[in-house]
Amino acid sequence: NKTMEKISLFTISQYACQRRTTLNNKNKIFTDALEILAENCEFNENERSYVVFARATSVLKSLPYAISSMTMLEGLPNMEVQPRAIIEEILEDGKSSTVESLLCDERYKATKLFTSIFGVGLKTADRWYRLGFRTLEEVQAAKDLKFTKMQKAGLMYCEDISSFVNKAEAHAVGQIIEKFVHKCVPNATVTLTGGFRRGKEIGHDVDFLITCPEEGKEEGILHKVHSLPQGLLLYYDIIESTMEKNKIPSKQYDVMDKFQKCFMILKLNNTLVQNSDLNFKDWKAIRVDLVIVPIQQYAYALLGWSGSRHFERDLRRFSYHEKRMNLDNHVLYDKTKKVFLTAKTEEEIFAHLGLEYIEPWERNA
Ligand code: ATP
Ligand code: MN
Ligand code: MN
Repeated sequence: NKTMEKISLFTISQYACQRRTTLNNKNKIFTDALEILAENCEFNENERSYVVFARATSVLKSLPYAISSMTMLEGLPNMEVQPRAIIEEILEDGKSSTVESLLCDERYKATKLFTSIFGVGLKTADRWYRLGFRTLEEVQAAKDLKFTKMQKAGLMYCEDISSFVNKAEAHAVGQIIEKFVHKCVPNATVTLTGGFRRGKEIGHDVDFLITCPEEGKEEGILHKVHSLPQGLLLYYDIIESTMEKNKIPSKQYDVMDKFQKCFMILKLNNTLVQNSDLNFKDWKAIRVDLVIVPIQQYAYALLGWSGSRHFERDLRRFSYHEKRMNLDNHVLYDKTKKVFLTAKTEEEIFAHLGLEYIEPWERNA
């Protein structure tokens, strides 16, 4: 047992949920390159290679030291041939020619640009590319393209939305949301989640969970969003809940959950933001996600929405393969005992899984 303890102290787990990954990334030069390659695999719907690059990236992010030679990769998990080759290139030349040529690739560039638009997924990006479009100006000037309501909003505010949200702006948005929610239900709670909960300085949006101590009271809140102060709501789309009672999580990597939620774009007045730059215009469009969560599922929802995406993926993979348990944003199901495991806090969920607790700021996997 003593030896086991020693080994576990020095062995790095293949699962991100058994590693502590802060934002202090010592291997950024490698992970930036590998992330671009992983992203390109997603664009090509090459799931297998995506996972190979994403797992190697995540291991490197968790290391407390910088890699400076190929021998330092020995003993590390998830270091397959493809990522190894890239790391070797960077160690030799300071850059990867594979990545450099990808960054100049027409299809990669267009897909990256188009999917950065709110409401545009891979299918739409690919259609625009095949129609010959390469820039947003070309897309916007196109005579016979049809846009969804979401894409119209995404295109209209694309400059603001692609410029990232900072902490001060996220805080200001939080105050607006809290004020609105408390007007609807005085004892409801609003929790900042997503990247900002992991301590990130910037994000592509701001994510909030909304819950209420008495079950059911939270249900009507989203249908009052139109009562937000005049002009504040630039766009919103409410997705209704599709929750079923006692539903066993089906697939191990099912990311989408079944909560009622609202994807919106808020007009944030700069005067509400502390130390904001004096801009050419006095407001900024900000992407906000609101998720309505019944209190018994709150811990699972919080864990699921705090990310990172890779951390979540590995939590589910670990549960499934190591514990015979199915985890999603609603519940944890033990297949051996055939029971649902309840939890009031994230700590209890980690304990159910036999995992050491990992703080939100250590989940930047
Ligand atoms: P960023 O700073 O870019 O916003 P983020 O980590 O906050 O980074 P998000 O896309 O906002 O990324 O998602 C936050 C977390 O919520 C992720 O871990 C993701 O798995 C989860 N999530 C996002 N969208 C959904 C959804 N529709 N259903 C279920 N979970 C989701
Ligand atoms: Mn987010
Ligand atoms: Mn989000």
